[in-house]
Amino acid sequence: MRMRLSTRLILGVVAIEAVMLTILVWNSVRLISSSHGELLESATQNETRLIANTLAPGLLSNDIALLNDSLSLLKSHHNLVHLDVHDVDGNVIASLQDVAHKHVDTQTHRNLLNTTKAGDTVKADTTYQDALSDGVFDVIKKVEVYGQQLGTVHAGYSVEAINQFTRQTRFQNTVIAAVALILSILATILLGLVLTRGLRKLEEGANVFGQGDLAYRIPISSHDEIGDVAQSFNQMADYLRKGQRELEKKNRQLVEQSEQIRLLMDSTEEAIYGADLNGLCTFVNPACVRVLGYSHQDELVGHSIHEMIHHTHPDGTDYPKEQCLVRLATQERKSGHSDEEVHWRKDGTSLPVEWWSHPIIKEDRIIGSVVTFIDITERRKVEQALMDAHNSLEQRVQERTEQLEKASNAKTEFLSRMSHELRTPLNAILGFGQLLEMGLQDNETHKQYINEVLHASEHLLELINETLDLSRIESGKMELNIEEVNLSEVLDECVALLNPLIVENELTFIREKNDAKDHILRVDRTRAKQVFINILSNAIKYNSDKGTITLQVTTPDNERVKISITDTGPGIPDAMQERIFEPFDRLGSSEAIEGTGVGLAITRSLVELMKGKVGLTSHVGSGSTFWVEFEGVVEDSPEKIVTT
Ligand code: ADP
Repeated sequence: MRMRLSTRLILGVVAIEAVMLTILVWNSVRLISSSHGELLESATQNETRLIANTLAPGLLSNDIALLNDSLSLLKSHHNLVHLDVHDVDGNVIASLQDVAHKHVDTQTHRNLLNTTKAGDTVKADTTYQDALSDGVFDVIKKVEVYGQQLGTVHAGYSVEAINQFTRQTRFQNTVIAAVALILSILATILLGLVLTRGLRKLEEGANVFGQGDLAYRIPISSHDEIGDVAQSFNQMADYLRKGQRELEKKNRQLVEQSEQIRLLMDSTEEAIYGADLNGLCTFVNPACVRVLGYSHQDELVGHSIHEMIHHTHPDGTDYPKEQCLVRLATQERKSGHSDEEVHWRKDGTSLPVEWWSHPIIKEDRIIGSVVTFIDITERRKVEQALMDAHNSLEQRVQERTEQLEKASNAKTEFLSRMSHELRTPLNAILGFGQLLEMGLQDNETHKQYINEVLHASEHLLELINETLDLSRIESGKMELNIEEVNLSEVLDECVALLNPLIVENELTFIREKNDAKDHILRVDRTRAKQVFINILSNAIKYNSDKGTITLQVTTPDNERVKISITDTGPGIPDAMQERIFEPFDRLGSSEAIEGTGVGLAITRSLVELMKGKVGLTSHVGSGSTFWVEFEGVVEDSPEKIVTT
């Protein structure tokens, strides 16, 4: 049973006080009784002695009447209950008859007289306590005169008065003790309440702290040990509150972090699961549950993840746990990756996946792995479709290439034959035309017609020659005679050949050679000349009125020589520059400017056959620069700039 400390204190003090007061009361009663007994005994002894002295004359004279008179005088004695007078033989010879008393037998009186010495008083009751039982204290006294024994007096005294006094005294003592007990109880309660008031505050404070209210402070009303304890309690509450605040803050941060992680895990479309070192699933995110066809994460968490989703290879063969790549990578503290495996759904179907695994390391110890995977079914379909498309495209390209090759061969064959076929009669036309021209000196109109025929025939012959060149190149029948050629010489020949045209078109020709060296190229001389003439004649044809042509030779490095021919013509738009080397494409040039549209196509083919490069830079409105690069070496030569 739970009992308050103050109650226990009060009860303890009250019990001790009650016992002590009881002992006190009992002892005082005992002392009073014994002192009253002694008083009674001495008083009755003296009184009986006086009675004996009073009765001695009667007994000495053996005068019964005198004895009775003496007895009647004693009748009024208020304490005397009975009085008998015995002779030496113990016989009652006189008595206060009306008083009832206890008789003592004759023999007793006799014995008393014989055994006691002179002057002794004989007590009938040995103690005062004996008298209490019958209310009478008996005293027997010898009556003697000068040593002569005359008889005995047996007097009985009432103890009622003294008993009453004893009772009163006992009652008063008891009342005093009870009052003292009550007062001491009250004092103890008061003291207990005062003493335990501080303890109650401590208890109240401890209860409040226990319920978690650390903002409460115990009021300190005393500067004693309890006050010190209360102070310590308050300090402890301060400390706990501070710690609680920090804990709450950390807790909030943790909750926020875990909420963010949960949101991340819940929001991501990638499936994520974790496993411990035994391969048991420790967590899964909703995407993982969904992708694998489960309805709740509990269906996976706690189970062997390999046995659940990774147990079989795509070809249907067993995939033992010991060979699991996720597990092996984790054991070696490595990250794993694969896009060639499948995971198995709850319904027994599989899905191709790409997965990444990473070991989870805590305090330098591997405690498990985290695996992310995505369903790559769609990717596989697209890859398959791409593969199919690629295969069919390849097949079509091959077919088309074969067709084109056939067509190209046929075209080349056709062109070759046609050119030969055309050239023969054309030569005849030309020849006869020339003959006619010679014979028609006087007829200006016919002469003009014949000139037209000759001009058209020359153009046709040029076209046929270029077409023949082209078909030779395309059919691989173009034969080159590669040799070391002095670039300056070739360029001189070209310029000399075209100089009449330059003059005719009133153009300025500038030849720049920036270093004082000659350049030796490894090319076919005739074909190199053909290339330069093509580009130079274009620079003449597509130049502005009284424009300029600049010929420049540079060496980008020790093994290459670059020849650039710049004109001040209309320039070529960017979009057309790509088409410029295609055969028969004149880029919409005016009919007034003669041309076949094949020159640059042949130029590029010839340059490439001689392991060179050709290109251009052009800006509409400011002119074009066509350049050709060949392998070459440099030799010393004086610098010269030729202007025509
Ligand atoms: P063409 O016989 O027509 O000159 P080319 O193959 O030599 O044939 O040139 C193809 C076309 O490129 C020309 O018709 C012309 O439109 C354009 N072209 C060539 N050179 C130049 C140039 N220097 N400036 C402007 N246009 C040019």
